[in-house]
Amino acid sequence: MDASIASLYSFPKEIEALSKKAESLCRDAFARMEEISYYNEAKVLKAFADNRVSETHFAGSTGYGYDDRGREVLDAVYAQAFGAEDALVRLHFVSGTHALSTALFGILRPGDTLLSLSGKPYDTMEEVIGIRSGKTGTITNGSLKDFGIDYEQIDLLPDSLPDLTAIRKKAPLAKVAYIQRSRGYAMRRSLSIAVIERMIRAAKEANPDILVFVDNCYGEFVEEKEPTEVGADLMAGSLIKNPGGAIARTGGYIAGRRDLVELCSYRLTSVGMGKEVGCTLGQNEAMFEGFFFAPSVTAAAVKTSLFASALFSLMGYQTSPRYDEPRTDIIMAIELGSKEKMCAFCRGIQMGAPVDAYVTPEPWNMPGYDDQVIMAAGAFHNGASIELSADGPIKEPFSVWMQGGITYHTGKIGVMLAAGELLKADS
Ligand SMILES: *Cc1c(COP(=O)(O)O)cnc(C)c1O
Repeated sequence: MDASIASLYSFPKEIEALSKKAESLCRDAFARMEEISYYNEAKVLKAFADNRVSETHFAGSTGYGYDDRGREVLDAVYAQAFGAEDALVRLHFVSGTHALSTALFGILRPGDTLLSLSGKPYDTMEEVIGIRSGKTGTITNGSLKDFGIDYEQIDLLPDSLPDLTAIRKKAPLAKVAYIQRSRGYAMRRSLSIAVIERMIRAAKEANPDILVFVDNCYGEFVEEKEPTEVGADLMAGSLIKNPGGAIARTGGYIAGRRDLVELCSYRLTSVGMGKEVGCTLGQNEAMFEGFFFAPSVTAAAVKTSLFASALFSLMGYQTSPRYDEPRTDIIMAIELGSKEKMCAFCRGIQMGAPVDAYVTPEPWNMPGYDDQVIMAAGAFHNGASIELSADGPIKEPFSVWMQGGITYHTGKIGVMLAAGELLKADS
């Protein structure tokens, strides 16, 4: 079988041998991911059937988008699959950050306190909350803080465990508790659904009125349950990550309690109009189809990540999470130890992309970052990180974060190309 691939890609013998070994190390984890995908695919399929999805729902609307039945059914399909009362799935969300920001502005009011239970939130959320001034150089910029919403944070304990004692103590002061499921680009573990459930229980025992909001980016369909199925009141994510299945062209979603989703819809459009407007311009079909593919595409990304974790550990690199650790998101970090190796790694990942494979990624100065950043991305949709991609800031310990892979075999080839480039950089 590999003989025919060798006529297309000439991997070093050593990489081929290590890849075989890596794949056999992953056998159990792959089987587990297949089971999870089977269940999630069934969950989504059932949601399509129960909500009577039909071809007429793919027709696009324009202008105000009144009576766009496809848009309404898509919301219902997401809600059912995520075990939520309602959902707001829109191409009008320009990114994950926009969906998260809309949710927070939707449910918080001046004088309220937002309490993070999972330490420092994702970089872009710091500016939304108003704890970092960012490019505007000021926090009187319409951030939550600028609107009189306080922010408090409970850091994770060593080993990324939640501080349940501090959660019980501080929850009574807060209107909204904030949990970030994925590690994002931080050096911490991602929080499993089981851990999130414990955090929610602790917060609600101490304050039955608290609203729990989860940043679910990168987490959808990696486990059998979503945060809204274990007590979260609201969650949000991006459609150019897992739930868009690499087919949705842009967008985001918010899902959870019906009254809260309604409030968020007032923030996305306007008070009174809410969910009733927003034309879909012919994008409903891609959003439905992407959601249909999402569980299996997510499983491909997780398998790519598991394979990479095993292969690079065999090559002597520190990877996190390891291939034998349970997953709750699609991200993995690899400590490479030098700028040259980061460049080599990203070069290889880029060579494995379907789009712009001929391009050589170089470190550059990115707005908002103190260090130069290198990025490998050759995606169908600009910035889509459900597609194989890697990036990292050029600084100690010279780690890259890798995610995506919309089919396992193409993801595997990208990872093997990265391994080949690393090997060359080493010699
Ligand atoms: C991707 C991501 C976001 C939002 O990022 P966008 O680039 O705005 O889509 C927020 N939180 C986490 C944990 C993420 O992974």
